[in-house]
Amino acid sequence: MTGRELRAKFLTFFMERGHTIVQSSGLVPHNDPTLLFTNAGMNQFKDCFLGMEKRDYVRAASSQKCVRAGGKHNDLENVGRTARHHTFFEMLGNFSFGDYFKKEAIAYAWEFLTKELKLDKSRLYVTVYTDDDEAAEIWHQQEGVPRERIYRFGEKDNFWSMGDTGPCGPCTEIFWDNGPGTGCGSPDCAVGCDCDRYMEIWNNVFMQFDRSADGTLTPLPKPSVDTGMGLERISAVMQGVTSNYDTDLIQGIIKHIEKLSGKKYRTNDKDDVSMRVIADHSRAVTFLICDGVLPSNEGRGYVLRRIMRRAARHAKMLGFAEPVLYRAVDAVNSIMGDAFPELLEREEYVKKVIKAEEERFAETLDRGLAILNDEVASLKKSGVHVIPGEIIFKLYDTFGFPIDLTADIVAAEGFILDEAGFEACMERQREQARENWKGSGEEGIAAIFKNLHNSGVRTKFVGYGEKCSYGTVT
Ligand code: ATP
Ligand code: MG
Ligand code: MG
Ligand code: MG
Repeated sequence: MTGRELRAKFLTFFMERGHTIVQSSGLVPHNDPTLLFTNAGMNQFKDCFLGMEKRDYVRAASSQKCVRAGGKHNDLENVGRTARHHTFFEMLGNFSFGDYFKKEAIAYAWEFLTKELKLDKSRLYVTVYTDDDEAAEIWHQQEGVPRERIYRFGEKDNFWSMGDTGPCGPCTEIFWDNGPGTGCGSPDCAVGCDCDRYMEIWNNVFMQFDRSADGTLTPLPKPSVDTGMGLERISAVMQGVTSNYDTDLIQGIIKHIEKLSGKKYRTNDKDDVSMRVIADHSRAVTFLICDGVLPSNEGRGYVLRRIMRRAARHAKMLGFAEPVLYRAVDAVNSIMGDAFPELLEREEYVKKVIKAEEERFAETLDRGLAILNDEVASLKKSGVHVIPGEIIFKLYDTFGFPIDLTADIVAAEGFILDEAGFEACMERQREQARENWKGSGEEGIAAIFKNLHNSGVRTKFVGYGEKCSYGTVT
């Protein structure tokens, strides 16, 4: 079953059960400064959960574009390392706004997985929040899940929050066993282990509280349901593979990279990591730029820039001398363009932005890498395994190396960064900037108006016109 078929199957299943299908919202959240990027299907429904917005439906389902590369949910470091994390992914979700609650949510999830998709129950496990006996009983008595397959976890795993503030609540999650021979191989490996064997596929959140900035939990007007299942993960399960990167949603991009690089996936571990990083990052970059983010030195734009520069470095490691990320856009769009037509509309624009950023960084990447390699070599001789703050700062300030890129490069050699030293250099630069600040020049403009006023010139308010008029000084 292809990713595309699964997406459609999920939405149809919930539509047949009274849910309104809602389009994915964009990756840049509107009117929500608490959020860097859309990180879950529930984001666009936040106000419905809080009881601040009424819609003409109380059940919804969607397939939401998500990016987790900063803020509360950040998987940037996991990409390339695990088989199940992406920076960009799609989250399938069903939602109840004060309509159904635990019983129905659990029944729907179990029916979809075990009847609709016919997953083998002996490979499924569930978890509930520490003291959520109600959910545990529903799993056992209503769905017949044996007690030994029901795990209980605390706040970190089974209490879901969108961010530091906002809707939240206890959750129940469903895990798939990828089978012996996968994951860490430890005899203690079980649900909850951070490896890839027991893979979390679906989270059902029982939205019950609004968390305020001081941590207080205020009950929501009506208990609600918010669920999220990664399309790439459930595709892996249905396609009988143990890595998201082997699903049809991503393989097409990896094949494209193979063709461009002349290298084969799964022949060399290091190259495989680079191919996965490039495949993942090219999706994130394509979708983010398409949704209006531009690489820059702050906020969302800086997160995008960091993702692009990581990809550029991995492209270099794979042997590419020329910009290549922009060439992956074709592969991304041919897989995702039918579900997200905006990709096709803005294809040329997106490619141009990526190529320009790749070219900008290419000028300094080689020189920065040479400096870093020299530093690592000389530190190794002296037995020190910490990169000094001045070097990190120089790479950042002169060569455009985001600090996490430097960390990523030297981690392979067993080095860490002197982050405090880097911060001290940053602070020194800020102070210097403050000292050099000679004002914005606006004082001069104010003086002109003062002189005009003193010479008797007055302005007269003549109402709001369609066009701005400069002819009102009398
Ligand atoms: P994990 O513990 O594996 O990091 P999570 O608990 O952070 O996942 P949730 O916030 O519960 O994930 O999100 C709901 C679902 O979205 C997950 O069950 C998973 O299927 C999917 N998902 C979450 N993060 C990612 C990611 N980085 N890449 C792909 N799918 C993801
Ligand atoms: Mg996570
Ligand atoms: Mg989890
Ligand atoms: Mg989870």
